[in-house]
Amino acid sequence: MAQPRIPFRRLATLTTLAALPPTIVLGVLALMSRLDWHVAVGSVAISILMLGWMVRRGLGDVYRILEFSETLARDGEGDLPAQDMSGLFPEFTEAVTRLQQAWGRDRGLLDARANSAETILESLPQPLVLLNENRQIVRATAGANQLFGDTAVGRDFSSLIRAPKILEAVDDVLAGAGDQLIEFDIEFPSVRSINAQIQRLSAPAADGSVLVITLFDVTEIKMVQKMRTDFVANASHELRTPLSVLSGSIKTLQGPARGDLEGQKKFLDMMEQHTTRMTRLIDDLLSLSRIELNAGMVPEGTVDLYAVLSNIVVMLEVPAGRRNVTIELQPGLGIRHITGDEVEISQLFQNLLDNAVKYSNENTTVSIGLRETVRPVSAGRDKEVEYLEVSVSDEGAGIPAEHIPRLTERFYRVDTARSREMGGTGLGLAIVKHIVGRHRGILDIQSVEGQGTTFTVFLPVSSEKTA
Ligand code: ADP
Repeated sequence: MAQPRIPFRRLATLTTLAALPPTIVLGVLALMSRLDWHVAVGSVAISILMLGWMVRRGLGDVYRILEFSETLARDGEGDLPAQDMSGLFPEFTEAVTRLQQAWGRDRGLLDARANSAETILESLPQPLVLLNENRQIVRATAGANQLFGDTAVGRDFSSLIRAPKILEAVDDVLAGAGDQLIEFDIEFPSVRSINAQIQRLSAPAADGSVLVITLFDVTEIKMVQKMRTDFVANASHELRTPLSVLSGSIKTLQGPARGDLEGQKKFLDMMEQHTTRMTRLIDDLLSLSRIELNAGMVPEGTVDLYAVLSNIVVMLEVPAGRRNVTIELQPGLGIRHITGDEVEISQLFQNLLDNAVKYSNENTTVSIGLRETVRPVSAGRDKEVEYLEVSVSDEGAGIPAEHIPRLTERFYRVDTARSREMGGTGLGLAIVKHIVGRHRGILDIQSVEGQGTTFTVFLPVSSEKTA
């Protein structure tokens, strides 16, 4: 039985006090010669011993409960050694045990609640940072870690975001200003546009948090918005030129060229040329939006690639002949079918071959190569897929390396005047990119200035293999 430390003075005082009445009674009896002195002294000694033993046991219980409550206060948990209790006051022991059980239950419940709140907070994909009164990070969610890298607790908020705009706003709210909603840009760890909502908690949290900063990464949204406005501006600009030529020509035909047959023919030819350009532009815009609309749906048809390419070669014979360009389609394929949308696949290669003929030098050859190949779905991925690889090579002026990454942007041209002169809309390669994407394919562009360009398209033989 473990004994608690009982101060001796307390034990002695209590025992003395308890033994005082029998000692007085026995002393008086001895004085009155009613009791033998030896018997009186012996009885006093026995009562002192017995009372001392009882007081010691009682005090032991009290000190055990004291030790238990101190441990509970200090460590938040502890056990009352019920087996060591004297049994002198069983109700007392039972009451303390019940209290201990109730405390354990409440604490378990509280711990579980705190743990689940912690888990939810930390795994939130939404970037969220909690700050204390000194602007130090108290807590950050997984989303915040992802956005900013390291969000070590205890560091000043400025070590996370250096943008003065948000730091000022945080200082203002800490100084007592109302909640704030601001937008700012960061350059590290990557360039991003962020919206931040800074709110003061209605009361400081137990961990010292007083401010909650909710962050929204709006980079993609802004990029899409910008792309939309750029697109509308570019499309309007592309349509404005032929429209002004048409209206100018109509005015000329109604006025100065009236009766001038030669002039009329010139203007009517010009009108036809620009109408064709507008029609082509609108056709390309419609194709682009149709392909974009279907972007999420994997095509299901079967396409005979060799047959598609042969048809396009026949179609392009006349324009190619005008520039004395020969188109060579290499035969000899084991597999020639892929899973895809025939109309889109035709458009893809028509655009590439049309460009190859347009931008190659006169009296040269455009060659179309076909082969089966196996390669990873994308760089760094283990999964390998069986593709049909179609390359379109020309012997034109080539494309300077700095333009290649942007070629598939809408309306992007290396030489705008030349493209327009050739009847280009600036949308051909954007359409190519979207069709290749929808077919889970890969587009590669290689060019050597002064020698020519090769566009290579990898199309999966079976679309579900890339999913
Ligand atoms: P465009 O209607 O102007 O041809 P595209 O989207 O098809 O528009 O092509 C974008 C630009 O890429 C073209 O304006 C041209 O500058 C360049 N380009 C495309 N294909 C070739 C090629 N085979 N050789 C050289 N430049 C090319």
